[in-house]
Amino acid sequence: MRKVIIIGGGPAGLSAGIFLSRDKIPTLIIEKFSCGGNMLLTENIENYPGFPDGISGFELSENMKKQFIKFGGKIKNGEVEKIKLEDDKKIVKLKNGEEFITDVIIIASGSSRKKLNVKGEKEFTGKGVSYCAICDGAFFKEKEVAVVGGGDSAIEEAIYLSNFANLVYLIHRRDRLRAKKYLQKEAQNNEKIKFILPYIVKEIKGKEKVEYLILQNMSNHNITELKIDGVFISAGQVPNTEFLNGILKTDEKGFIIVNERMETNIKGIYACGDVIKKLLYQIITACSEGMIAAYFAEKYIENL
Ligand code: NAP
Repeated sequence: MRKVIIIGGGPAGLSAGIFLSRDKIPTLIIEKFSCGGNMLLTENIENYPGFPDGISGFELSENMKKQFIKFGGKIKNGEVEKIKLEDDKKIVKLKNGEEFITDVIIIASGSSRKKLNVKGEKEFTGKGVSYCAICDGAFFKEKEVAVVGGGDSAIEEAIYLSNFANLVYLIHRRDRLRAKKYLQKEAQNNEKIKFILPYIVKEIKGKEKVEYLILQNMSNHNITELKIDGVFISAGQVPNTEFLNGILKTDEKGFIIVNERMETNIKGIYACGDVIKKLLYQIITACSEGMIAAYFAEKYIENL
């Protein structure tokens, strides 16, 4: 029995956990992989306050985790299968069969990379198709790679990959990039990054591993081939909400709808971070939402 169970140990979940455990509320974070969430996929975080020289995603994750544990917070490795509601109690069931009863759940399960859903993508995942430049970039030393997407993540990944690869193609479906202007400038000034706009990937091809992409020009619909050694897919995020089985209100893309107190449509269930529908997806906003969820969860517990 824990007063609060937090699903997900990214910046939102850890911030909520730090707040609650500092206030002596027994709090358990259930995390599928390692604490840090998408922060772990970022080499250097430059827009989180307090670190004038930037901080690695790994180090910031470790610091937040240490702070949570220091105040008595507990972390359990496991994947949530479902949430069951019984009167005022909530039960969190893990895939290994374990169950935890709690008064309050804070969902901070974040988001994962969206798939392109093109032929060859699944087949070559781990054989040249990657969703994480930080994890796999070093395998492509002096090779030629492509990044698909035009948002902040795609541009950051292209810049990161240029540290290893000889050439990085940035393939985006429109003429205009979505990424922040300063990132666009940095990529445009990088001699190793070549923009391929407006193109989509139709197919990923190869024998044992990825060898080339079939691309389609979005203006004239012409098809071309692009020889590459690897492709990094950075085409946005999908919320990690499979375990909810439709019990919470979401938008059409599956992002959880919350009010300004981070309350969902079920009393005692809060949500925060990249899993919610909102306007800004940043580490600092995730932390702030985690703190808000914790604050109102604490008020809810006081009134039980
Ligand atoms: P994003 O901003 O949603 O960008 C996704 C990109 O992928 C868009 O350019 C989109 O094209 C493209 N795309 C989507 N579906 C596609 C498909 N099926 N085929 C080809 N291209 C496709 O996602 P993100 O870059 O992962 O960023 C997520 C959030 O985190 C954003 O709010 C971002 O600002 C934030 N973030 C911030 C930082 C930072 O502050 N340094 C770093 C990383 C992420 P269209 O443009 O045509 O829609």
